[in-house]
Amino acid sequence: MLDGMAATLVAGTSLRDRYLGRTPRSRELFERAARSLPGGSTRTTVFSPPYPPYLVGGAGARITDVDGNSYLDLLGNYTSLILGHAHPAVVAAVARQVRLGSAFASPTELEVELAEEIRRRLPSIERVRFTNSGTEATMFALRAARAATGRQLIGRFERSYHGTHDAVVNGPGVPDAVRELTIELPWDDLNGVARALANREREVAAIIIEPVQGAGGIRAADGGFLGELRDYSRSHGILLIFDEIICFRIDPNGAQGAYGVTPDLTTLGKIVGGGYPMAAFGGSAEVLDRFDARRPDALVHGGTFNGNPVAAAAGLATLRELTPDAYARLAALGGRLASQLRGGLQAAGLSGTVNQVASLFEVRLDGAAPTDQWLGLLLEGFHLAPRGMGGLSTVITEDDVDEFVRAAVRVGQELTLTPARDAG
Ligand code: PMP
Repeated sequence: MLDGMAATLVAGTSLRDRYLGRTPRSRELFERAARSLPGGSTRTTVFSPPYPPYLVGGAGARITDVDGNSYLDLLGNYTSLILGHAHPAVVAAVARQVRLGSAFASPTELEVELAEEIRRRLPSIERVRFTNSGTEATMFALRAARAATGRQLIGRFERSYHGTHDAVVNGPGVPDAVRELTIELPWDDLNGVARALANREREVAAIIIEPVQGAGGIRAADGGFLGELRDYSRSHGILLIFDEIICFRIDPNGAQGAYGVTPDLTTLGKIVGGGYPMAAFGGSAEVLDRFDARRPDALVHGGTFNGNPVAAAAGLATLRELTPDAYARLAALGGRLASQLRGGLQAAGLSGTVNQVASLFEVRLDGAAPTDQWLGLLLEGFHLAPRGMGGLSTVITEDDVDEFVRAAVRVGQELTLTPARDAG
C-alpha cells in the first residue's frame, strides 16, 4: 500500500499528465515562449509549473484557452476584472475612446472624471495622480511621503505585497542601502510595531499597509489594530499609507470606509482601470500638491501613459456599474463560497484554510502542494491564482460558486484524502 506521501505524489503526477494531455497547444506556445522570454514568462505571478494555459478570450465569467478548454474565471486578472470579461459597458466605453484616439500628450476630461469618482468614494483623497501599475503607485506614494516628511525610513508588514520596486522587495538586485531603509513590521501587533521602530520613530517617513493583505493570504487586519496604527503613526509624524490596490473592492468606500480608519495616503489599482492598465496614488492636498508642476520644487512624475484615456474610460465605466447593491451581492457570494467550502471540506473529512473578505478569498487544501491544487482546479474547469487566491466578479452566480465548492472538495479528496487514510 502507498504511504501518504507517495499517494500524494501519484495523484500529482496523474494531474500533471492529464493537464499535459489537455493542453498540447499551450505547451507548444510555452516551449516557443521559453526561447524568447525567460522561463517562458513575462509575469512571475502567472507562472506555475508545468506551464499556464495560454488564453484566447474571455466573456463574462468564462475564459477559453488555445486548446479550447473553458474555465470559470475566479481570479479576474488578479482581482482587476470585477465585472468579468468584456462587460458591455466597459467594451462600449473603450471602443468609443479607441476610435477617438488611444493616447495624447495632453490631458483629457476622462482623467478628471475618474479623479472625481475616486474622491467621491474616498474622502481621504483630496488629490490623486494616475500611474500605469500598482508598483508605480506605491513607489510614488512612498516618494511623496519621504518628500513631505524629510525622512527616509519605511515600515512595511510581514507577508505584504506592494509591487516589485526596490523599496518593497528583498532579493538580488536591490541595493543594501535601499534595503536598509525598509523595516519589516509584525502583523496585527502594535507593541511589535513600536518595538521594531523604537528610537527611530522620527526617521520613519511612512508605514504602508494593506488593510486586507492580498498575496499574504487574504488576511484582514484587525479593525482595532488599524485604528491603533493610525494613532501611533500620527503621534510620531509618520504618514500612514493604505495600499488598497486589491482591497478597494471590498466596499463602495474601500477598506478605509469599511474599517472607518482614515489614512494619509492611499494607493489604488486593479478595478480602477476596469481591466486596463491604470493605478493611482492619492491623499491630502498638502502632500500631493508637491507634484503640482506650477511649483518650482515640484516632484517629477512623468509617464507616457499616465491617465491614459482608454484605461480611464474603462475604469469609469466599471466604477459606475458598482452600485452599493453590487457590492452587497459580491460580499454575499463571497460569504457563501467560504461557508460552503468550509462545510464541504469538513463533511469530506478534509482540512484546509479558507480565508475570505467580501469578494476576495484564498483556499489552501492541507496536504496538497499549491501546484497540484492549482492543476486539479484547472482540470475541474476553475481558474484561480497558483497560490489559491480568487476574486469574485459580478457575473458569477450562486450556482457557479456551488459548483466550485464541489470541485474543490473533489480535488481535495484526490490529493489528500487517500494519504490521510493510509497514514492513519
Ligand atoms: N499592491 C498590492 C496590494 C497588490 O496586490 C499589487 C498587485 N497584485 C500591487 C501593489 C502591484 O500592482 P501591479 O501588479 O499593478 O504593479
